[in-house]
Amino acid sequence: MKIVLASNNAGKLAELQALFAPLHVELLKQGDLGIPEAPEPFHTFVENALSKARHASQLSGLPALADDAGLCVDAFGGQPGVDTAFYATRFGYAKGDDNNVTALLEQMQGLTHRRAAMVSTLVAVRSAQDPEPLIAVGRVVVDIAPERRGENGFGFDPVMVLPALGQTFAQLPHEVKNAHSHRGAAAQAMLALMRERWLA
Ligand code: IMP
Repeated sequence: MKIVLASNNAGKLAELQALFAPLHVELLKQGDLGIPEAPEPFHTFVENALSKARHASQLSGLPALADDAGLCVDAFGGQPGVDTAFYATRFGYAKGDDNNVTALLEQMQGLTHRRAAMVSTLVAVRSAQDPEPLIAVGRVVVDIAPERRGENGFGFDPVMVLPALGQTFAQLPHEVKNAHSHRGAAAQAMLALMRERWLA
């Protein structure tokens, strides 16, 4: 079986490939098939992930797996949520991971309550019109560090401190991040669904 990974984010793709390797299916990157990014106009992670998966499946004719992720900060009433990728642009910075971290640290300067959740919603479809998408959600609670720590990972990893380990995701080896992360939890649930519903 071939499954298209409906993302062009290199960090996410590396994690999804490692997390779904135990499934023993062929994982194809949508970029390698010439499939462009899908629009993400919706207000929830699940709607955006479904839209991305349907888009990749439509253009490839293959089953597709998409991940929509975002950071929900307690002190900001759960924002930026689905708009996380564009967070820096609210403050005059160009879109990008490093600017996102800069903007977040600036906006949280002086705040003592630094709790946030990073959410990953995975959606898989067998076809563009699949009436029964598989949906798996993973969520990890973190504290936002006052400055960057560590070199691994991507996105907000350098400022996402796992309370139980006292380290940011960027300080952890990839396999340790995957064992504790939002995406790791969502992937385990999705693997179980795919085995039960698609591969049994
Ligand atoms: P999207 O799901 O590709 O729209 O990503 C949403 C935003 O969350 C982007 O700014 C990503 O860099 C960030 N992001 C997604 N997954 C992670 C992660 O595992 N760690 C840190 N940041 C992430």
